[in-house]
Amino acid sequence: MKDMNMTSETTLSNLGLDPAALSGGSLKVTSPIDGRVLAELNEMGAGEMDAVIARAKAAFKAWRTVPAPRRGELVRLLGEELRAAKDDLGALVSWEAGKITSEGLGEVQEMIDICDFAVGQSRQLYGLTIASERPGHRMMETWHPIGPVGVISAFNFPVAVWCWNTALALVCGNPVIWKPSEKTPLTALACAKIFERALARFEDAPADLLQVLVGGADLGKALVESEDVPVISATGSTRMGRAVAPIVAARFGKCILELGGNNAMIVGPSADLEMAVRAIVFSAVGTAGQRCTTLRRLIVHNSIKGDLVARLKKAYAGLPIGNPLEDGTLIGPLVDEASGNAMSNALKSAEAEGGVVFGGNRVTENVPEGGVYMQPAIVEMPGQSATVKTETFAPILYVMGYDAFGDALEIQNDVPQGLSSCVFTLNMREAEQFLSAAGSDCGIANVNIGPSGAEIGGAFGGEKETGGGRESGSDAWKGYMRRQTNTVNYSDELPLAQGVKFDI
Ligand code: NAD
Repeated sequence: MKDMNMTSETTLSNLGLDPAALSGGSLKVTSPIDGRVLAELNEMGAGEMDAVIARAKAAFKAWRTVPAPRRGELVRLLGEELRAAKDDLGALVSWEAGKITSEGLGEVQEMIDICDFAVGQSRQLYGLTIASERPGHRMMETWHPIGPVGVISAFNFPVAVWCWNTALALVCGNPVIWKPSEKTPLTALACAKIFERALARFEDAPADLLQVLVGGADLGKALVESEDVPVISATGSTRMGRAVAPIVAARFGKCILELGGNNAMIVGPSADLEMAVRAIVFSAVGTAGQRCTTLRRLIVHNSIKGDLVARLKKAYAGLPIGNPLEDGTLIGPLVDEASGNAMSNALKSAEAEGGVVFGGNRVTENVPEGGVYMQPAIVEMPGQSATVKTETFAPILYVMGYDAFGDALEIQNDVPQGLSSCVFTLNMREAEQFLSAAGSDCGIANVNIGPSGAEIGGAFGGEKETGGGRESGSDAWKGYMRRQTNTVNYSDELPLAQGVKFDI
């Protein structure tokens, strides 16, 4: 452990964080790996919010008039700085969120990818030209910066979610106010330092383009309540979204909500089982089941269910669980004790509903002391019970059988959440049906790929209790701008639309 401490101090200082300045505050930041205190940070009071908003508004006034491709240049520099800091930031993600090394690095890579995407987007904030019904008139649509964007993020993607939002918000002409999870504020402070490095290489950026608020839900609530934050992008539990959405709606703000998922895979009788097993294991146990897109429900054709479950149990039995910083580990810790208890309780409830549980015990040998390490669980269920319909943020895979493909689709859609989904099949009718209007009701639907590990090029988000927001690629940038319809009259007449006469 001593070595790890020394390494972490080097990492912190490489990232521009002074280890000596990270102590004495009221917010204790612990590592899920071994419960070690990484920092004690000063929290911001909700009373300071007015000053934060005033600074962001001033930044907006200056930034909105900077040409968008020039704003893209700042994001290009951010991407460069992230490339330089990748190893250190990835390591800090692993310490603070408990991810295995390659997933910590992967998260930073996702930040770099969205920066690249946003740089291109900065030259493509296209509006339409529209045919006018009136002679000598031109209609068009213009996209303008909207104002300060509030970003609230969850512990499990402590840095990528910020970057998805920020890279786009910046090229769209908006400053960002970021309230990271109280479980992962250190990586947020590191991101702010990396952003400062990009700013230092960019002429004429206004101050306060990014402000990071260290604190808990109360601080998030104060941000959400502000009339001067036109867009709130909130990632976290459905419980949080239920609290946030009505507040933003009451003041006519815009919400981008990225909430809980309960993602399924349908495995048809023609599926390539070898490939399906690999996809299932990665999606169900990767990040210790703590991804919003984690595979939680497996809906398998009854003719292959026994074979598939046997293969999965074999794969699960050999999974390396332990210190996520060690080479070869595939499953690190859950974020905290409450998460471990939630997993155990869900397994007990599933059993009471007729489920047969494989795995799911706490691991105490060959793992660092002070962390919550759990064996991933497979639970064969007689049907889709209340427990299966609930998102438990832990590695539990519920397995259910089906006979007709239509029934599998019904089961897949019959949950409150609507984030990610997939089908494994070599039958093109099943694949196309899955993607059709009568197929999966999720924001993400894949064929022969697991539900997790999305690329940044597509719009990311889901329906129903997942909140309906879209981030990242495709046209998600429009969520960070206001749309204006313009009509220009270059004639010397003043005709009214719809043929209305109003002669004075
Ligand atoms: P959480 O809801 O406990 O916290 C998320 C963030 O919301 C934190 O920053 C927290 O301080 C803040 N918050 C909580 N209550 C608030 C309130 N009333 N007002 C304003 N802010 C508030 O979630 P978590 O445990 O950090 O993350 C896990 C959850 O996030 C899971 O449900 C997971 O599915 C979801 N998630 C969704 C996505 C997605 O893109 N759909 C991505 C990552 C995580």
